[in-house]
Amino acid sequence: MYIIQIASECAPVIKAGGLGDVVYGLSRELENRGHTVEIILPKYDCMRYDHIWGLHMAYQDLYVPWYDGRIHCSVYCGWVHGRLCFFVEPHSQDSFFDRGYYYGSNDDTMRFAFFSKAALEFMQQSNKRPDVIHCHDWQTGLVPVLLYEIYQWHGMAYQRVCYTIHNFKHQGIAGLNILQATGLHRPEYYFEYDRLRDNFNPFALNFMKGGIVYSNFVTTVSPHHAWEAHYGEFGYGLGHTLHQHQHKFGGVLNGIDTDFWNPEIDRYIPYHYSKDNLEGKAKNKKALRERLWLSHEDKPIVAFIGRLDDQKGVHLVHHAVYYALHRNAQFVLLGSATEEGLNNWFWHEKNHLNNNPNVHLEIGFNEELSHLIYAGADMIVVPSNYEPCGLTQMIGLKYGTVPIVRGVGGLVNTVFDRDYDQTHLPEERNGYVFYQTDNRALESAMDRAIGLWNHYPDEFEKLVIQGMNYDYSWNYPGKDYLGIYEYIRHK
Ligand code: ADP
Repeated sequence: MYIIQIASECAPVIKAGGLGDVVYGLSRELENRGHTVEIILPKYDCMRYDHIWGLHMAYQDLYVPWYDGRIHCSVYCGWVHGRLCFFVEPHSQDSFFDRGYYYGSNDDTMRFAFFSKAALEFMQQSNKRPDVIHCHDWQTGLVPVLLYEIYQWHGMAYQRVCYTIHNFKHQGIAGLNILQATGLHRPEYYFEYDRLRDNFNPFALNFMKGGIVYSNFVTTVSPHHAWEAHYGEFGYGLGHTLHQHQHKFGGVLNGIDTDFWNPEIDRYIPYHYSKDNLEGKAKNKKALRERLWLSHEDKPIVAFIGRLDDQKGVHLVHHAVYYALHRNAQFVLLGSATEEGLNNWFWHEKNHLNNNPNVHLEIGFNEELSHLIYAGADMIVVPSNYEPCGLTQMIGLKYGTVPIVRGVGGLVNTVFDRDYDQTHLPEERNGYVFYQTDNRALESAMDRAIGLWNHYPDEFEKLVIQGMNYDYSWNYPGKDYLGIYEYIRHK
C-alpha cells in the first residue's frame, strides 16, 4: 500500500510532543511491513536540520492557490532516520514557517490551512496518488475537506483519508477568511452544523470538526480516550459530532519506537540492561545520581518527565515532589513549562530546593537526559488531568521504571494496578493507578509503591519485570492501522 502522512511534526526533526513520535514511529512500522510511506511537513526555520540526511530541492515551482492569487513554494526532500520526508517552503511575506517556533502565533489557523492546501496541491501537481492519506490533529483537519470538496475533481478521486486526533483540546477555530483563502467558496454551505461550523460558536469554523466529518475513518490514540471523548467531557465540545460519526470512529493505542526506546541498545545510557539482567539499571541509577548531584543512599528515585501544564496535572506533580521527600525518597523532574506562570512557579521551586541532595528539577527539554532518567529511576509518576494516550508510562515500563498513574485515557489501557486491578491476573499487573485529582489519591498510590520498594524488594523487582514483559511497540498498533487502511480503501 502507498501511504502519505501529512502532519505538523515528525520526530526527531520536528517534535513538540507525542504527535511527532507517532508520525515517525508509525511510518517506520508500516515500512517495515513492506508498505511505502512518505511524510509531508512544513519546512520550519527552527527544525533540527542535523537530523535530515540528503536534503535537496524536490519540486522547485509549486504554486499554491491562495485567496485570489497564488503563493510560490519550493518543496525539499530528505531522509529523517530512514523516512522519506517532503518539506514545504512557501515564499511569501507571511513567513508562515519562519517564526523560530512551531506553534503559538495568532495566525496559526491560517498557517496550517495553508500547509494543508499546499500539501494537497503538491500531491496533485507531482502526481502522487497514495491509497491512503493519514493526517493528524487540527493542523491538518482541512486536508479531507479540501480533498473531497476540491481535489477529488482534479484527479484525486480514489484517495481515502484516515484522521488521527492526538489532542481534542486544540481544535483550530477560525473565521470566514479561511474559506476565502483556501478556495472553499460557499460560506453558507461550510457554515452548516453538519459540516465545519463549531458546535458552540455559530460564527466560527472548526478544523477538527471538518476532519471528523470528511474523513473516511477517525481515530484517537487509545480506546479509553475514544470512549471519554465520545461520552465525556474530553471531546471538548465535539462529543455530539463523534456520536454522529461513531460508525467510523475508534481508538488505536500509540506505540513506542523500540529501536529508540530500548534499554538493551539505547545509545544515550551508559549501561545497557534487559529484564533478564537488571544490574545495568542499578548502575544507571548511580550514573543518574552523579549527573544530577543527588546523594547516594538506599532510597528509591521517583521521576516525572513531561510538559509542565494543566493537562499533565501540574499541581499533583508539584505535590509528588514534596511527598516523595516526605517519604524519604528522591525525586527527579524533567519538564518544560508552556506558560510563563507555571515556568516561574517551577523555577521558584527549583531555587528553593537547590541545595537539597534528594531532589533535582531540570526545567527545559532534554532528550538525552530523559533516557538516563527512564533508565535510572525506580518509579515514574503520571498524574495527568487527561491523557489521550501518554508515552511516558509506556517508555517507563520498557525501562523497568514502575508507573504510578492517574486512571484516565490511555493510562487506563496500559497500566494495571498491582493491588486492585480486576481485569488482569496478579502476574500481569505492572504499576499503580489512582483515580481522584486530590493529593490524598496520589499519596496513597505513591505510598504503596514506595512501601513495596522499601519492604518487599523482591516483589518490587517482580513488578518491574512484569512491566518489562509488555509489548507496547508499534507491532500491534501498526496492524490496527493497516486494518483501518484496508477497510477504507475498499469502501
Ligand atoms: P504529550 O502530551 O506531550 O504528547 P506524551 O506522553 O504523549 O505527552 O509524549 C511525551 C514525549 O515527550 C515523551 O517521549 C517524553 O519522553 C518526551 N518529553 C516530554 N517532556 C520532555 C522534556 N522536558 N525533555 C525531554 N523529553 C520530554
